This record gives sequence, C-alpha cells and structure tokens, in this order.
Amino acid sequence: MAGPAYDDRDGKIYYDGEMVDWRDAKVHLLTHALHYGSAVFEGVRMYSGKIFKLREHSERLIKSAEIMGFKIPYSVEEIDQACIDACTVNGITDGYLRPVAWRGSEMMGVAAQSNTIHFAVAAWEWPSYFSPEARAKGISLTTSQWRRPPPNTAPVHAKAAGLYMIATLSKHAAEAKGFTDSLMLDWRGQVAEATGANIFMEMGDGKLHTPIPDCFLDGITRRTVIDLARAHDIEVVERVIMPEELGNATQVFLTGTAAEVTPVGRIDDHTYQVGEITQTLMTAYERAVGKVTAEMPLNSQSRAS
Ligand code: PMP
Repeated sequence: MAGPAYDDRDGKIYYDGEMVDWRDAKVHLLTHALHYGSAVFEGVRMYSGKIFKLREHSERLIKSAEIMGFKIPYSVEEIDQACIDACTVNGITDGYLRPVAWRGSEMMGVAAQSNTIHFAVAAWEWPSYFSPEARAKGISLTTSQWRRPPPNTAPVHAKAAGLYMIATLSKHAAEAKGFTDSLMLDWRGQVAEATGANIFMEMGDGKLHTPIPDCFLDGITRRTVIDLARAHDIEVVERVIMPEELGNATQVFLTGTAAEVTPVGRIDDHTYQVGEITQTLMTAYERAVGKVTAEMPLNSQSRAS
C-alpha cells in the first residue's frame, strides 16, 4: 500500500463549514450513508494551482444529491470555495480533491427524510491514478462479470457511493487475474466503461468511437476529450458498441478525472497500440488541464506527464 492510511495523515479537511484536523474528520457508526449508501461524491483535480472544471464538478455533486433525493445545504459557489480552501490550507497546488455529501444519523432506517446532510472536502497530493509505466505501454482490462444496471434499477447518472460496489468487485476480480482494471458491459451486454473511467476506441477508420452514456456517468473528462478531438478534426461517433467489435479496434483509451487520458494496451485477448490519436489527445488533454503548456518543448512535456 502506498503511503499512510487515508485516516492517518497530517493536514486539514473541510467539514461542515470548518477546517478540522485530518484525523478528526470522522462520522458516527450510525450514519445513514454507511448503512444504506446515501452518499454522493466527486473526484476533482488541481493542476498548477488551478482546479480543472471546478464548477462542473460542484454542479454535478449538487445534481447527484438531487437524484438521490437530498439537498446539499451549500450553494455551488460555497462548494467551489470549500474546494479551493481545502487545497490552500494544505498547501496543495497539484493534487486530487474528494468532495463528499452524505446523510447523517438522525433517522436510522431506510427512510431518512429528516437527516442532516453533511458536506466535506479532502484534498491531497496524488499525481497518477495508473502507474506511469502502465500508462506508457497501455493498461490492461478484462471484461467483468458485473454489469452496469439499467436506469430503472439504480440512479445511474448520479456519482453515488453505492454504485461503486460493483466497481470494487470488478476491479478486485481484474487485479486477481493480473489485469489493471475491468471493462464493464451494461445490462444489455453493450460496452459501457471501466470501473472509474469512460472508454474510447479507434476502429481503423480514423474516427473515435465511444458508447452512449445512457446508463453510466457521462464524464466531465469524456466531454472534454470529445471537444478536444473535434478541435483536432477527429470525428467522434457516440454509438452502441458490442464486445464482439473489440477485435476491430486499433487504439483504445480511458478518460476520467483521475485516469486523465490513459491508453489501453489490452482487453482480454485483444491487443492495441498507443497510436497517434491517443497520443494527440493525451497531449491535448495535458495542455487543457494546464499540466504542460504549448511553449514547452516536446521532450520536457513527456517528462512532465
Ligand atoms: N465513470 C465512472 C464510474 C467514474 O467513477 C468516473 C470518474 N468520476 C468516470 C466515469 C469519469 O468521470 P469524470 O471524467 O467526470 O471524472
């Protein structure tokens, strides 16, 4: 395990309107969120002192809570400010932020209409989700036995804690088989996404193909990369992709706030190149987030990533 446990670190966490010592940012055992999954969260990144797409993340947090039937007692401006303050107080300029909102302990049962809604933001230095070596040659995915549920079975458009139980089961199974992550299909058997990132592929026609996000998160990075691709005259096709088509792909990559643009070198028995479209979009994304600037020569850009 890398570094100290997450509950045993120095620093401050924004918690219900105040900065508390990192080790004191606790919840009670009888917290509704712990028993019934009534929590929503965000994964956000700061690059060179600026939080990328902060407003979109704060808005999505509020929206996720609404989908789950609760209202975060802070405005979008206050959530933005809490994120900025959580970085400032810990001296972070390049890091990861975890805003989270959850139902507290007043009612303990399935119904929880009058529970206090809590809100916290932790921020820490966390440069790379997948290891730099894995990113350079492409990570490996294996198809999960778990599927993304249909929209009438779970609140699929919320970034809700409970939805990640199948992600953890899938990722553990993948790692036990020696793969980096899982490819998750949806309930219809269509290609959906990875456990915490969206998927794109090039299929020999110079276009970028990606599944329609009708039962999983339409990631902020996914939308950013679609815009970047179009700005580079790469056509993006959002469509149904079946697993039988994975053999036709030549390049595959994942997108996510934590994953950024991560090449995939293998899905089950299929192998892929880290090709030109992938490299173009990796660099374009690094520029968009402010990790590298257009003025930096290419060799120092690759060191920076
Ligand atoms: N899907 C899932 C399940 C995720 O957890 C994430 C990460 N938030 C994504 C997709 C990518 O979303 P984003 O680009 O907004 O980080």
